Amino acid sequence: MAESRRVAVIGAGPSGLVTARELQREGHRVVVFEKSNQLGGLWVYNPRVETDLLSLDLNREIIHSSLYKSLRTNLPRQLMSFSDYSFDCAENGNRLNFPEHEEVLKFLNEFANHFAINDLIRFNTEVVRVALVEFGGNRWIVESKSEELSSEEVFDSVVICTGHYTVPRVANIPGIKNWPGKQIHSHNYRVPEPFKDQARPLYTFSIVVVIGDGPSGLDICRDIATVAKQVHLSTRSSEIVVSKLDNYENLWNHSKIDHVDESGEVTFLDGSTIHADIILHCTGYKYDFPFLETNGIVSVDDEGCAVGPLYKHVFPPKLSLCLSFVGIPSQGIIFLGSELQAKWIAQVLSGKVLLPSEDDMLADVEDHNRQLEEAGIPKRHTHRLHPHVMEYMDWIAAQMEMPSLDAGLKEMYWSIYKCAREVGYANYRDLWVFDNLAKLSL
Ligand code: FAD
Repeated sequence: MAESRRVAVIGAGPSGLVTARELQREGHRVVVFEKSNQLGGLWVYNPRVETDLLSLDLNREIIHSSLYKSLRTNLPRQLMSFSDYSFDCAENGNRLNFPEHEEVLKFLNEFANHFAINDLIRFNTEVVRVALVEFGGNRWIVESKSEELSSEEVFDSVVICTGHYTVPRVANIPGIKNWPGKQIHSHNYRVPEPFKDQARPLYTFSIVVVIGDGPSGLDICRDIATVAKQVHLSTRSSEIVVSKLDNYENLWNHSKIDHVDESGEVTFLDGSTIHADIILHCTGYKYDFPFLETNGIVSVDDEGCAVGPLYKHVFPPKLSLCLSFVGIPSQGIIFLGSELQAKWIAQVLSGKVLLPSEDDMLADVEDHNRQLEEAGIPKRHTHRLHPHVMEYMDWIAAQMEMPSLDAGLKEMYWSIYKCAREVGYANYRDLWVFDNLAKLSL
């Protein structure tokens, strides 16, 4: 008979919600801890920003979400759905292919209602410590705080679904200590208005350097270019020749920053120099699990780039039956990927699916890391799935003898990359056309 465990799920974002559903379906007893007052995780837009705009002050009040107001998804609605509950099941007025963030939150709320997940969630309850029970046979004490109350409970297993887009990584720029301008991390960017041209008296900033050409950097530099005097996008490359971006009159592409100085100048490796008011770091985030105590069995590396060792980004080999993570990978099909990870965990915990031995799992993690190193892939991409996202998802599905991801969805995923390359990042969401929708089995 399948085993039923008492499982703590930490976080009620997309990963926590689908994990709770899968665990419950498999007959486990689930409690979801959510520190905020509502579900949705990153998809709950918060107009407030942190008091330290670079988020370096350890005593700051932490704001979870990094959403900016104009954000639309970078994948179409079909790839933002769960396997048996799609955006089309939810009641959505607006039918953009790439939904706005409000619609994603609405979708997640409808998903939670449909599967009665709300009943499992303890809102306003932050997990502050997860530690192994001494002599307790790999069970966990979960300490949580709600308002002034603190409580400790024992669980057979803990699934961590706390996201990884809250603790910023900031670029290391020679000379930055004496540079007189302002700095912000994209975690604290919401709207372009504060970047308006200095000539307009209400606003302070006008010449902005945006560092990083990931999705946030590419969106935000265009957002700010609608109001600022000049925006200069600095990418990691040392080879870019300074050039204008898209059809904007005031948006330039540059190489990496070489240094900044006390006069306010920013000098790029492409040889150009500008006098800037503000540097906006769109330089990514760190993994961080401040509540987790495993005596070093699972750790995050010094730069916050990688969590390990984790077998297939999910199970710490030494603690595989009592601790797991959902949502660690980046650059994948996040919702469907988290759903597969959750199904896998639920079936491993009930004993339906067996994991390899601890040694074999460790060897697999080492092999993964060695392959990245040999291919010259930086450590910060340890958990990046692209371009192997399909292999990863199909591999997990195979562990449960489930069919592979729908061929139409796979085709759709690659057609977006092709479209973005052909028409440019600024326009792909509106110009993308997929003529094989009929093929989808969703
Ligand atoms: P989150 O959504 O971050 O949820 C984590 C939850 O855990 C939160 O509710 C938080 O309050 C809770 N929590 C944290 N710590 C504790 C604690 N100690 N105790 C209790 N609760 C806790 N993905 C896409 O698929 N498409 C996109 O277009 C897309 N755009 C993005 C844009 C930006 C700017 C960023 C930063 C990310 C984007 N992502 C996108 C990725 C996004 O993070 C995922 O879609 C998704 O939100 C991950 O879900 P999650 O549940 O793993 O984490």
